[in-house]
Amino acid sequence: MANAAHKYVYFFGQGKADGKAEMRALLGGKGANLAEMTNIGLPVPAGFTITTEVCTYFYANDRKYPPELKEQVAQALSRVEEVMGAKFGSLANPLLVSCRSGARDSMPGMMDTVLNIGLNDKTVEALAKQTGNERFAWDSFRRFVQMYGDVVLDLKPKDKTDPDPFEEILHHKKEKAGVKYDSELSAAHLKELVAEFKTAIKDRTGHDFPTDPLEQVWGAIGAVFRSWMNDRAIVYRRTYGIPHEWGTAVNVQAMVFGNLGDDCATGVGLTRDCALGVPGFCGDYLINAQGEDVVAGIRTPQRIEVSLRKEMPQAFDQLNGIGQILEKHYKEVQDIEFTVQKGRVWMLQTRSAKRTGFAAVRIAVDFVNEGLITPHEALNPKRIPADDLNQLLQPIFDPKAKKAAQAEGRLVAKGINAGPGAATGKICFHAADAEAKWQADPNVELVLVRRETSPEDLRGMKVAKGILTAFGGASSHAALVSRQMGKVCIVGCSELVIDYHAGTVTCGGKVLKEGDDISIDGFTGEVFAGPVKTQASEVIQVVLHKSLSPESSETYRRYAQLMKWVDEARRLRVRTNADQPDQAAEAIAFGAEGIGLCRTEHMFFDHIDEFREMILAADLPARQAALKKLLPFQREDFGGLFREMAGLPVTIRLLDPPLHEFLPHEGEAQKELAAKLGLAPQTVADRVHELHESNPMLGHRGCRLGIVYPEITAMQARAIFEAAVEVQKSGVRVLPEVMIPLVGFLAEFKNQEAIIREQAEAVFQERGVRVEYLVGTMIEVPRAAVCADQIAQAAEFFSFGTNDLTQTGLGMSRDDYGTFIGYYREHDIVGNDPFQSIDQDGIGALMKLGVSGGRKTREKLKIGICGEHGGDPSSVKFCHQIGLDYVSCSPYRVPIARLAAAQAAVAEKNAS
Ligand code: ADP
Ligand code: MG
Ligand code: MG
Repeated sequence: MANAAHKYVYFFGQGKADGKAEMRALLGGKGANLAEMTNIGLPVPAGFTITTEVCTYFYANDRKYPPELKEQVAQALSRVEEVMGAKFGSLANPLLVSCRSGARDSMPGMMDTVLNIGLNDKTVEALAKQTGNERFAWDSFRRFVQMYGDVVLDLKPKDKTDPDPFEEILHHKKEKAGVKYDSELSAAHLKELVAEFKTAIKDRTGHDFPTDPLEQVWGAIGAVFRSWMNDRAIVYRRTYGIPHEWGTAVNVQAMVFGNLGDDCATGVGLTRDCALGVPGFCGDYLINAQGEDVVAGIRTPQRIEVSLRKEMPQAFDQLNGIGQILEKHYKEVQDIEFTVQKGRVWMLQTRSAKRTGFAAVRIAVDFVNEGLITPHEALNPKRIPADDLNQLLQPIFDPKAKKAAQAEGRLVAKGINAGPGAATGKICFHAADAEAKWQADPNVELVLVRRETSPEDLRGMKVAKGILTAFGGASSHAALVSRQMGKVCIVGCSELVIDYHAGTVTCGGKVLKEGDDISIDGFTGEVFAGPVKTQASEVIQVVLHKSLSPESSETYRRYAQLMKWVDEARRLRVRTNADQPDQAAEAIAFGAEGIGLCRTEHMFFDHIDEFREMILAADLPARQAALKKLLPFQREDFGGLFREMAGLPVTIRLLDPPLHEFLPHEGEAQKELAAKLGLAPQTVADRVHELHESNPMLGHRGCRLGIVYPEITAMQARAIFEAAVEVQKSGVRVLPEVMIPLVGFLAEFKNQEAIIREQAEAVFQERGVRVEYLVGTMIEVPRAAVCADQIAQAAEFFSFGTNDLTQTGLGMSRDDYGTFIGYYREHDIVGNDPFQSIDQDGIGALMKLGVSGGRKTREKLKIGICGEHGGDPSSVKFCHQIGLDYVSCSPYRVPIARLAAAQAAVAEKNAS
């Protein structure tokens, strides 16, 4: 006997499945979970999954299938026939199936599905006879021809304002029949529609509609595999970092019918709300309809939590029970798709539900409190992506401004709140326009206003601040995608009358045009014409402004509970980049444990005249005179920081940027400055010219300044230590860490260190007090990372300046890379923007070298990071893995960095 053929097809049905949940890489998320649900005894129509390996094979072999596939599909199909007691093409009892895509990670609506496969002019009559429902049979056929025509035979709208060709024919039919909804069309109308659809397909694509069920099913299978490489799926994968190599599975499954009468329905639901995280089964359903109707947002569906209990009590109870079984089984909120056929619930899909940052925090905390998961499990980045915490800090509408807007008659509509937050922006009706506007001006604030959204709109949704749709419910495409992107979103706002051609939206008696301001409140679903003022979020009001008490904010209390678990779990410390006491205070409120980077040059901008005098000084005495004027300003600034940080470490970086950055470059401004300083205008012009560099990023900057002008370093060091002594004398502990920038050579470090220590000693002698302090360096040029063992002979701490380390390590200027990085990302040359997320293979390797070199010389060397990357979750995780002591980031990123640090620690624990 020959070797057993490789298994490409996995069957599920009658309580037993070949696959299970853990097999999502092979079966895709949908297939794996259909198998799992079958195994735990939930009602799932029988079917089979064709594995993702076939997709890989398909693309590697010129779009052909493995030779074994045909036979395996035939066998699985006959098992489905057996279980269902129906036969493909039978004129007594015809089997109908759906053909569904299913990637490893869900890509909602990205790829294609075809329902009611198996219908033709003969089987449709058989189905009508068998069910005694002619209208149902023709409704199913009408849907099948439409979907198959679109997905497999490729009859699609040509451009953005074109209606869908099938919808157009359907629309005419409804008009002629004088009805509003598809469900009101008669069997005769539907019969005509089928014929008209087929003619349109033949006329516009040249294809005959296939009659053989087997040919139909293979056509659909091929279309699903091809849809893996369609543009919107590719964009989606790029956005969410899903590898193109994964491929999709295909699920072929016996049909159950939600369009068989008024005791039938189709729906999508959530085991709890995912906009705000409120417990309780919820979702959308439509009576006498088929799946696509709810998801596509063609009509606004009814809400499960509002009316299903009354309309179909039995189905409601079944769903509730299934929801609870699923949450306990998966330990996650589930997003399900179901059909009710003659009062009986059938499960068609389940997956972990996408949720907003608000819902994520609430659900994770509630799950712990309900005993479903542990605090460590709550921290899983799949449950709360660290970045999503950001949503809790974003502004909300000011209630007073909202009231005023309402009094002015600007509250024009109310829809379903699908994505919390506040957004004011210019109305934009088409995703492509939004994208173009954003490309012209990345700061443009837009609200995308549409009847409904579809996967084609993804790029435009990404750049909009808010999304507002007229149709569709809490599970519509718009709601789902907004949840995932963290966008402010309102759906199902049925008062909106949108005219794409005129470029207007009419509501509440007002006509708003494209480009007009509109404001949407994603917490309440309220839509306002014009702008509405915002205010701080509840968490900010509690922790920062102290204008709200913790007791009166549930959102804050959950945040606090979560952050307690976070701080218990993490090892990395989190510091902040701050130059001023008020920033430092903010950061402390967000949980910062020190300052990782204080850029002294920002302070100089407040005293720019004195600083310019210093730069323009003709000789050393003149420069020293100018520095003497600067010293008290610096001392005061440092004193303020030390007092605010009250004993937490404060890392102060000595002057870093090239001096010419501080001088005026225009004739007029130069003249003005000359007059102020009593110099000849030519002197100023000459000095500016002298300081000009063709590549300042690699020029006279960093420690190179302090080495050539030691008196600058001396002044800064003196200011630091005088401030430190003063604050310490007032009874507040201080912990200054003096940081030398852009060091590449040990000798550079030693040169500056000597000046710093000399000043420290002098100040301690003068004031009769000593202060504990460290002298360390930035590691931000490759040489420093490579020679870290040498530099650590003198340096007491390292801090990776990953902005410069990325620039110098990649030879890529951050000021210039904008011209090509977009192209690089689009073409997958780089996976991430290296200035946002550490290039772990390259720059990360330099960092590892720096860590191991540094600690070889100085075992307990304190090492941190102070580049922008310190607030990026994946970079934070990397910093944890390579053994850094802390990350430092901007104040508002501190909570995110804390959570990311905890997630890294938990992941490490789980792996060991
Ligand atoms: P997507 O991945 O875009 O959600 P699906 O494959 O889940 O696409 O199909 C969309 C909808 O089609 C489902 O939610 C369900 O309502 C309907 N559907 C799919 N297969 C069947 C089936 N075998 N019987 C009844 N309805 C189905
Ligand atoms: Mg689905
Ligand atoms: Mg730098």
